[in-house]
Amino acid sequence: MNEEIKFRPHHFLCMRFWAGNGYSEKYTARVEEILPQVKNGAKIKIVFEPDSLCAACPHLQNDICDSQSRVLKFDAEVAKLCGIKAGQTTTWQQMHKTVSEKIMEQNKFSAICGDCSWAEICHK
Ligand code: SF4
Repeated sequence: MNEEIKFRPHHFLCMRFWAGNGYSEKYTARVEEILPQVKNGAKIKIVFEPDSLCAACPHLQNDICDSQSRVLKFDAEVAKLCGIKAGQTTTWQQMHKTVSEKIMEQNKFSAICGDCSWAEICHK
């Protein structure tokens, strides 16, 4: 597949804890398609808008997430802590390392998205 893979910043957190629990079968299939590619080194473009995963999400309506204000806050906080900008190209491996150092090891994970509806999976 030659599709340009795009991730919004907070998806580097969500995907770190991916355990097969998606919003829908279509979304789960999309993650299972994209995640192996990025873990195998596919380039990822940073965006602050619906990304390659949102594209299959039932919560995306007219190209806007129905939790837009909340997810934009998650994106802004991850981007600030990790020092990433829209349009930048990165890799899963680089962002996994950066998230580990700038968020996990600094105990900032819960402050970013502890109120997410999936928190009981990620924030154990
Ligand atoms: S809930 Fe919103 S941010 Fe999360 S995958 Fe769906 S559309 Fe994207």
